[in-house]
Amino acid sequence: MEHYDVVVIGAGFSGLTAARELREAGRNVLVLEARDRIGGSTWYQPEVWDGVGLEMGGTWIVPEQTHVWAEVQRYGVPISDSELPGRMTWSDHGEVLDALLPVPPEEYGALEHAVRALVEAASRLDPLRPLSEQDVADLDVPIRQWAEDAGLTGNAKELMISWFCGCANASEETGSALDIVRWCASMGSSLWGMVQASVLGWTFDEGTVSLARAILDDSGAELRLSSPVRRIAADDEGVTVGYDGGEVRADRVLVTTAVGVWQDIEFSPALSAGKAAISRENHAGQGQKIWALARNVPEDISGFGWGTAFDYVGAMYTTERGVVLVCFAPEHDRVNPDDLADVQRAVREFAPEAEVVAAHAHDWVHDEFNKGTWATFRAGQFAEYELCVAEPEGRVHFGGSHTARRWRAFIDGAIESGKRAAAEILSAD
Ligand SMILES: Cc1cc2nc3c(=O)[nH]c(=O)nc-3n(C[C@H](O)[C@H](O)[C@H](O)COP(=O)(O)OP(=O)(O)OC[C@H]3O[C@@H](n4cnc5c(N)ncnc54)[C@H](O)[C@@H]3O)c2cc1C
Repeated sequence: MEHYDVVVIGAGFSGLTAARELREAGRNVLVLEARDRIGGSTWYQPEVWDGVGLEMGGTWIVPEQTHVWAEVQRYGVPISDSELPGRMTWSDHGEVLDALLPVPPEEYGALEHAVRALVEAASRLDPLRPLSEQDVADLDVPIRQWAEDAGLTGNAKELMISWFCGCANASEETGSALDIVRWCASMGSSLWGMVQASVLGWTFDEGTVSLARAILDDSGAELRLSSPVRRIAADDEGVTVGYDGGEVRADRVLVTTAVGVWQDIEFSPALSAGKAAISRENHAGQGQKIWALARNVPEDISGFGWGTAFDYVGAMYTTERGVVLVCFAPEHDRVNPDDLADVQRAVREFAPEAEVVAAHAHDWVHDEFNKGTWATFRAGQFAEYELCVAEPEGRVHFGGSHTARRWRAFIDGAIESGKRAAAEILSAD
């Protein structure tokens, strides 16, 4: 049977980074990837509409995300800053508010309170340390409950909930408020910084795949695509990995797949009780990202809404056929991307004259190799699982953006986790 020092499972940013680090340290590495492409939860599709390429998954980065930023600099990958919108659009249950601020004048005080509540909560966190070891369990509650506990009221409360859900790609009843407050903490407790980190950061001119490809090429690691792993059996001498296509042996294995996917792999010995439990529960990131091509919308629309199907609708590019909009919803079945009338109905809650001529999305939630979008914890999962998801189990190690600290559930967190896991493997040998 073929033998490798390390078999890495998953060719997303975590697995590719780990493979490169391990190869740099002289290890013989095989990467097994279930799909027929690299990039995992990032997926750039070139020239979808009028030469415009679309990111179906991870898209934006910011300089504060030091791991991905360093990789971009290292390989000279071209990126561009987002243009600022000329104005913000606010949609209150489909009624577009014609105002600079999302609240009527009598609620300016409530808006100030909401902003202060977020910044004060963020100031309590050190995003570089495990949050489960800090005195912040009161924030690890569902998003709406946090807004109520913090005394938010009126439009400011609904906007904050909607924005948190947008960041979480999770519903107000499932997503952990702590996981979103962490975004603000990671941007130095800056509210504006948090907006940039969500939808006004930098994008890859030639798609996220340009960075993934650069890391893979640099690694020189052997990659097998279309090779889903089905079994991981560890013994005293090594690990046998069974995949569609064969079996290989390795001294150590690194698993970088999403947590919900673990339950579909046969582990021997069985996974720890904690890992088995979170794999069954899964994370809260179960929403939608839908691209729409629309006429009769402002070329720089950037809108947050509450009581709306989408929680965010923003213009990314303008083509001859219309404006390319990126839209997010916190639940997987809010909008049917295959039904233009349904997408148009949802977009019109932000731009009443909109005529949607095309729509495009990937269903990450029902994708067997993702089972979700990005790994926002469910309320309460920090205490139970934050540390356990990264703990090695004998010769089997665990990476993936869900195991990262400051920017878990981001591309940056995936890269951080790949470096951490590679160092862990090297020090274990
Ligand atoms: C819609 C969406 C929008 C996002 N937006 C942003 C954003 O704007 N900015 C940002 O920083 N992040 C964003 N993210 C999150 C970011 O993309 C991820 O956190 C990051 O890419 C995860 O990388 P990873 O390597 O940890 O995991 P993944 O990329 O998920 O890689 C895991 C790999 O394992 C493979 N795999 C699964 N099962 C098996 C198996 N049995 N055998 C072999 N291989 C297997 C998968 O196919 C996959 O390639 C977004 C994600 C989504 C889905």
